[in-house]
Amino acid sequence: MARFIFITGGVVSSLGKGLMAASLAALLQARGFKVRIRKFDPYLNVDPGTMSPYQHGEVYVTDDGAETDLDLGHYERFTGVAARQSDNITTGRIYRDIIAKERRGDYLGATVQVIPHVTNEIKSFATADLGDLDFLICEIGGTVGDIESLPFIEAIRQLRNDIGRARTVSIHTTLIPYIAAAGELKTKPTQHSVRDLTSLGIQPDILLCRVDRPLPDGERAKIAQFCNVRKEAVIPALDAKSIYAVPLQYHREGLDAEVLRAFGIEDAPEPDLGQWENILDRLFNPEGEVTIGVVGKYVGLQDAYKSLTEALVHGGIANRVKVNIRWLDAEVFEHPEAELAPQLEPMHAILVPGGFGERGSEGKIASVEFARTRRVPFFGICLGMQMACIEGARNTAGLPGASSSEFGETAEPVVGLITEWMSREGLERRAANGDMGGTMRLGAYEAELGGNSHVAAIYGNTCISERHRHRYEVNVHYKDALEAGGLVFSGMSPDGALPEIVERPDHPWFVGVQFHPELKSKPFEPHPLFASFIEAAVKQSRLV
Ligand code: GLN
Repeated sequence: MARFIFITGGVVSSLGKGLMAASLAALLQARGFKVRIRKFDPYLNVDPGTMSPYQHGEVYVTDDGAETDLDLGHYERFTGVAARQSDNITTGRIYRDIIAKERRGDYLGATVQVIPHVTNEIKSFATADLGDLDFLICEIGGTVGDIESLPFIEAIRQLRNDIGRARTVSIHTTLIPYIAAAGELKTKPTQHSVRDLTSLGIQPDILLCRVDRPLPDGERAKIAQFCNVRKEAVIPALDAKSIYAVPLQYHREGLDAEVLRAFGIEDAPEPDLGQWENILDRLFNPEGEVTIGVVGKYVGLQDAYKSLTEALVHGGIANRVKVNIRWLDAEVFEHPEAELAPQLEPMHAILVPGGFGERGSEGKIASVEFARTRRVPFFGICLGMQMACIEGARNTAGLPGASSSEFGETAEPVVGLITEWMSREGLERRAANGDMGGTMRLGAYEAELGGNSHVAAIYGNTCISERHRHRYEVNVHYKDALEAGGLVFSGMSPDGALPEIVERPDHPWFVGVQFHPELKSKPFEPHPLFASFIEAAVKQSRLV
């Protein structure tokens, strides 16, 4: 039967609980256990699909088409376990389901309340669909003491009682700040946070404490004494040079051993951490470096492109080079006096990522033209592929009026809204003026690649499956015109209706994909498109 590990946060937000959960999962996996991670988000949005990437970072999409918190991306990158719809729940979704049941009369006249109805929903989410798991790690979003997270804390308190202490462990993450004026690390916020948690009925077993310098023994002992945990269970979590160094670091600090001890598991095998050592060796001992220009919209907040950033790093791991990312604001390229060339010339490759809306689109199209005409490796992802098609239509296919209907009425809708497509469940339909939430082409779809195409050589396969998240599609009716201009449609949906990949055979590396390959890249299994793109950037760096 699965054991449960609950991770709560204290003192401040942004402690990196997602990475902590992912790293612990990786360590347990390295000992041969079967692990899964779930995220409980206390906000009232049904899912993060409609939230601004500026506020909440990227929306991570699963194979089964859920729009989820970006922490699920960390989970998948660190464990290789594909995240599912059932791994992320929000207060919004719980209330939506409860209210739907109440309207149907399912509660048979009962008064519907936070306890037990909301807490029961949370508990059934946590305990559903566990299969033969050894450990389920549950990360509770937010910070203990938040009003929104109270029902979640209450639900895990009940769960600890329902399924027995022996099968649950509670890890509380805190911050130990250094006060420069006093020259001291302060344990009081941790003490207070643990007191808050115990007042809600949960005594943590392990404290994972973010701290910016080594934690002296005295402070460790003090925290243990005041917080009622073993001294060895106060684990210092120092800042790491790379997120991929975190699992090894936590192992050295004894996190996985303490977790097993808290469960009373004494016969677990030692972890095999070779894969993580190999990743760090490649990351920290590069044989060169490349600079990639990412021309996007949300360049101010890197969490908005989290998976993309990581996939580029993975491409670097595959080629043993350091990848420097230059975030370039597409809008800047739109000013009449803007000089695009001086900014793009130092780049060894150019990437136009996914995005929504018209802002910056002309700057992105100009960057595609630069990459095409200067023969710089170019990678267009989702909106980036759409921009590559519009650029091709305007400048190589004699369609100067080409645009996307996402940006308004256009005479040549090379990219247009799609209201019908085939999914695994059959025909999907959307109304042009329907809801914004959960109404895109979402999740894994297959594509068939041309046998002689560049992408088939990169994938080593002609049938692929990748994750989608978009409303608009390149219009297949423009295929012949665009191909005459040199932009080949090398990947199509199995029914031939939806263009999935375009490429330019007369260019060193020019690929546009309608899907998001970055979502499936892992440090120990870099995505082939990113590995190949960085390889092309390395070649380019030798030319300039
Ligand atoms: N805005 C475009 C669409 O909806 C592209 C979306 C994306 O890049 N994820 O089709």
